[in-house]
Amino acid sequence: MDRAAERHALVDRLTDREDLDGDTTAAMRAVPRHLFVPEEKRGVAYEDTPLPIGEGQTISAPHMVAIMTGLLALDEGDEVLEIGTGCGYHAAVTAEVVDAEHVYSVEYHERLAERARETLDRAGYSGVSVAAGDGKGGWPAHAPYDRAYLTCAAADFPQAVVDQVRPGGILLAPLGKRRQSLVRARKRDDGSLAREEHGYVRFVPLQ
Ligand code: SAH
Repeated sequence: MDRAAERHALVDRLTDREDLDGDTTAAMRAVPRHLFVPEEKRGVAYEDTPLPIGEGQTISAPHMVAIMTGLLALDEGDEVLEIGTGCGYHAAVTAEVVDAEHVYSVEYHERLAERARETLDRAGYSGVSVAAGDGKGGWPAHAPYDRAYLTCAAADFPQAVVDQVRPGGILLAPLGKRRQSLVRARKRDDGSLAREEHGYVRFVPLQ
């Protein structure tokens, strides 16, 4: 099978198992995940599994990216902040829904940030902005955001990230230490968060 056929077969399996919306499914069908994983892992890029991407980090399993994309309830044109670019795959999926120019991603490891920029360019998502730095501070220059999500596990939503989301906006992150839950929160007008839990998950920790 060629890569596109492998990818469609994966997305077919995902939609059998999960209740995915149309935008999420289309994004998963569009992004060439094999370009984002290390070359020696390309043969397994369309298995539903996390993979190592260097610096002790991993690209999330496709089903997790799909679930998070759905929970964020993204609309075209939403301004989105991502903490934890990794290889850039998840940012590309987000970019498929909101358009690349609206995606701002912060990555702690300089080398991963550089590589993610290169891959995003090569895959056709050069509009995605990637900064190397500590995502706990968010990316104030482009705030306010309609949506913000973490791809690494924190004890709680970093306050700077909460501050940079507009009232009515949505935050999503794996929260907790060894036992993590995927938590979605809507920011109320008074700045407080209305939270819901969406099951147990396993992510690398926020540095
Ligand atoms: N979404 C990514 C998955 C990345 S794994 C992908 O599609 O590949 C989580 C990432 O969060 C790792 O790359 C890790 O380096 C990064 N990270 C951890 N702590 C961070 C912090 N404080 N600020 C920014 N990025 C962080």
